[in-house]
Amino acid sequence: MTQRLTDLDGVVVDTGTSFADLTTLRLGGRPHAVVRCSTAEAVVEAVKLIDASEHDLLILAGGSNLVIADGELDLIAVRLENDDVSFGDDGLVTAGAGAVWDDVVAASVERGLGGIECLSGIPGSTGATPVQNVGAYGTEIADVLTRVKLYERATGKVFWSDASELELAYRYSNLKFTQRAVVLEVEFQLSTDGLSAPLRFGALAGEAGERRPVAEVRDEVLGLRRGKGMVLDEGDYDTWSAGSFFTNPIVASEIADQVQAAVRSERGDADADRMPRWAAEGGEKLSAAWLIERAGFPRGYPGEDAPVRLSTKHTLALTNRGQAVTEDLVSLAREVRDGVQSAFGVQLVPEPVWVGVEI
Ligand SMILES: Cc1cc2nc3c(=O)[nH]c(=O)nc-3n(C[C@H](O)[C@H](O)[C@H](O)COP(=O)(O)OP(=O)(O)OC[C@H]3O[C@@H](n4cnc5c(N)ncnc54)[C@H](O)[C@@H]3O)c2cc1C
Repeated sequence: MTQRLTDLDGVVVDTGTSFADLTTLRLGGRPHAVVRCSTAEAVVEAVKLIDASEHDLLILAGGSNLVIADGELDLIAVRLENDDVSFGDDGLVTAGAGAVWDDVVAASVERGLGGIECLSGIPGSTGATPVQNVGAYGTEIADVLTRVKLYERATGKVFWSDASELELAYRYSNLKFTQRAVVLEVEFQLSTDGLSAPLRFGALAGEAGERRPVAEVRDEVLGLRRGKGMVLDEGDYDTWSAGSFFTNPIVASEIADQVQAAVRSERGDADADRMPRWAAEGGEKLSAAWLIERAGFPRGYPGEDAPVRLSTKHTLALTNRGQAVTEDLVSLAREVRDGVQSAFGVQLVPEPVWVGVEI
């Protein structure tokens, strides 16, 4: 199998790499092989071969949204490294799935193209942005995504799929968790007047709905993200994470009322009156970070010597302090999830994709 993969154009097979070298959590065991593909055609051919074999397949790019089991793993990882990017005159951008997302944002902003500046600093690849409909500071990729080129594994077909066919929602698409298709290329439409998308997030300077110069917004977003350890920095363990570990729960309004009542009885009126809750499709969105803190898990929990801690800058990131294994991460994730459940009756759901291990 390894030889047949090596024979493909644009493919390099690597058998000595562990997932700890390929993920931003720097956790995870060893696959049979990592198949690095530098073109979309190489991705298609490699995936076809692996799908026809007895091996399980994992598509991976930046490794920034993955929790992978320890030990020897019975799977082959295909790593997307096709990274061509082209900019049309009309603000239409097409990028290979393996292009580093923040490079695409930076190059767009440099050209004065607007719409993705609030997504600056998100680690990982361009091809993964539709997979969980990445979002930050009031913007989601769904706002600008027009089409994705897919390789559909069940049929072996390659085709462009309209963004509307992906069921994009909060940190979700019908590609996430299913691995039904591989995103080979992504196309999105940006604005060309040098201004950002209308601002929707209070922490950014300016009025709601205002449009500001794209470069200014990018700089501001990167500054805010760095302050929370949300930009990768090898020397800072607070960034050895998968970003926000739990999604913000969306619950029925009666449940939100019950949570607020529980906060009131445990922590008093002042805290309860400040509880974040926003109208969202399907009910109300609560803040996972806020609930985690109120359930007794402050930043840095459980303390200095722990192999995995909540980030000291951001409650919602679980971080590897340098020596952890995946099991350490899983036990802290369970403790936090169960603590929030027993304090407020709300079940937190992890945002990353889990491979070979469950919470
Ligand atoms: C410090 C930090 C901050 C973060 N901040 C944010 C944030 O603000 N907002 C946000 O939404 N996310 C955030 N994330 C999560 C993560 O960066 C994004 O989800 C990112 O899009 C993942 O890209 P990746 O290339 O690393 O994907 P990977 O981790 O390699 O893969 C993630 C999943 O997508 C699948 N996948 C990857 N590429 C493809 C493809 N081309 N086709 C089909 N399936 C594919 C994989 O199989 C896997 O299931 C953050 C992560 C970190 C570490």
